[in-house]
Amino acid sequence: MTEKGKISIHAQNIMPVIKRWLYSDKDIFLRELVSNACDAIAKAKIMATKGEIEEFTGRIDVVSDEKEGTLKIIDNGIGMTGEEVKKYIAQVAFSGAEEFLAKYKADDSSSGIIGHFGLGFYSAFMVSDKVCIDTLSCLPGSEAVRWESEDGMEYEMGASQRTMPGTTVTLKISQEDKEYLRKWTIRQTLEKYCSFMPVPIYLSEVKEPEPVAEGEEAKPAPEPEQVNEVQPLWLKMPSDCTEEEYKAFYHKVFHDYEDPLFWIHLNAEYPFNLKGILYFPKLKNEFTASEGVIKLYNNQVFVADNIKEVIPEFLMLLKGAIDCPDLPLNVSRSFLQNDGYVKKMSAYITRKVADRLVSEFKGKREDYEKYWDDIHPFVKYGCIRDEKFYDRVKEALLFKTTGGEFLTLKEYLDKTAQSAEKEQTVYYTSDEKRQAQMIEMYTGEGKEVVLLNTLIDVNFISFLEYQPRKEGDEEIKLSFRRVDAGTEGLIEEGETDEDKRKALEDKFRKALGKEDLAVTLNNFKQDTVPAMMTVEEQGRRFADMSRMWGEKSFGLPQQQTLALNAKHPLIVYLEGSEDEELDEMICRQVADLAEMARSPLESERMVAFLKRSNELLTRLVE
Ligand code: ADP
Repeated sequence: MTEKGKISIHAQNIMPVIKRWLYSDKDIFLRELVSNACDAIAKAKIMATKGEIEEFTGRIDVVSDEKEGTLKIIDNGIGMTGEEVKKYIAQVAFSGAEEFLAKYKADDSSSGIIGHFGLGFYSAFMVSDKVCIDTLSCLPGSEAVRWESEDGMEYEMGASQRTMPGTTVTLKISQEDKEYLRKWTIRQTLEKYCSFMPVPIYLSEVKEPEPVAEGEEAKPAPEPEQVNEVQPLWLKMPSDCTEEEYKAFYHKVFHDYEDPLFWIHLNAEYPFNLKGILYFPKLKNEFTASEGVIKLYNNQVFVADNIKEVIPEFLMLLKGAIDCPDLPLNVSRSFLQNDGYVKKMSAYITRKVADRLVSEFKGKREDYEKYWDDIHPFVKYGCIRDEKFYDRVKEALLFKTTGGEFLTLKEYLDKTAQSAEKEQTVYYTSDEKRQAQMIEMYTGEGKEVVLLNTLIDVNFISFLEYQPRKEGDEEIKLSFRRVDAGTEGLIEEGETDEDKRKALEDKFRKALGKEDLAVTLNNFKQDTVPAMMTVEEQGRRFADMSRMWGEKSFGLPQQQTLALNAKHPLIVYLEGSEDEELDEMICRQVADLAEMARSPLESERMVAFLKRSNELLTRLVE
């Protein structure tokens, strides 16, 4: 005799709402059903170890039948008695779903973590016209029961044909969701959520046997294939994992054919139960760094990628898998943001990453230097985003010199004999080729120039300059200056002749048609260069930053100065000459050459420069 019932009055209001809300994450139904099956097997295993039932090998089968329109999730776990079905399936609906609804309403953000948990079995109705459970409890003397419901609100219960302990959930997939009958879609979904669940999951499909020609034998149906790995690498002890295993795991999970640079195996039981592996990927270019992905798991069940409430944002540049069994995931995002436990965990992960960087630096400096080009944008970004991270890694920050050496800030200052100074300067270039002449002027004076040529560097050096620095009680000021920021250190000391300077300034202003051009006159230490164009550091950085954000430097003029070398024959000539035409040519040529030594000329100016150069050359042979 069949028995009819209503799941609960509340569920009638709730089911349509759940269906609508979870529309975007529909595929989680498979995760929920497969993880229920895993749990059922885990419970039966416990009973087997206690001798209450016989030992067995747990397995889950996911079987699709396109013709029949069904998807089955079959387990050989603990099963349920009729009473249990009523208690767990029928009643849980109202308590569980109502609670879920209350939480949902309290939070406006309807995407993300919430909705991933706490819904369980009922998510099956998101894709089904009808859901059946055939189950036989493993307790001796139980009878198999069948439960079915079309809408998650009313059900029928009766006897089932099932003879083996365990549960089969049969979904009659609705027309609009029939993609979930396709093996390809099912496999994708299983790989997304169930790749590391602890029980082997086999996927197969029921197919019409192919017609067999006379005399030939029918082909056997293909064996179901296992889609998951029951022991993800992160659960192993780090000391038991080989380099090959780490790499293989990386390739498989992140579909990156390149090897990772190095990795961190997180393995904490206290103060949090947290396991995982974080990889430093090899960068293809600066921009792909932002394509990292951190997969979050809860007891081997995939939850979501890149949950920024749990994992510090800057770590998203890494790739990795993190399993936190204790994470309260069935709560809202705003709760997670404010949760002390989550904050501590996130801080813990950050600390581990920083410590690992420092230990790589200290223990394997040579390797670390090789990685530096790949990891530095990430490390710098992390420093800017999180001061605690900066504090931990600051000794391991490197600067690559134009000579190809990697120096820490301290090493740079020692090498340039500035350690005892109160004002310390790091010279840098943003373009080693373009600025080669200026670099040479500095290195010629025994000053090291470092290479800071990525987008993050402008922000990073401004950040470093802001960090308070002290030697004993004394404040120390650190400045970064690009090689075109001034002539400091490149000119000889001594007074300039103001009249001469003024006369030259007028000449250049007139020739270039720039009334506000500033001109200085000094003896350069190196006399091959007639002039340098310098641009004040802070203003230029500001312009660089606004360009980075796609703005046109807010129309702010950058303060440019043309620094002339009083000793150079061309400047000496200009001082005395009164040949207007030639003077103008020389002034322009000198100014263009000075500009080109720092940044490319605008096109019109470039055309004029080339034309003029050819004219000047022609004069030599005329
Ligand atoms: P949750 O899994 O979060 O408890 P569900 O709605 O998914 O919520 O399931 C409710 C209960 O039904 C489970 O706690 C379990 O007792 C029972 N159950 C669900 N699926 C199975 C299964 N495949 N085998 C045995 N029991 C199950």
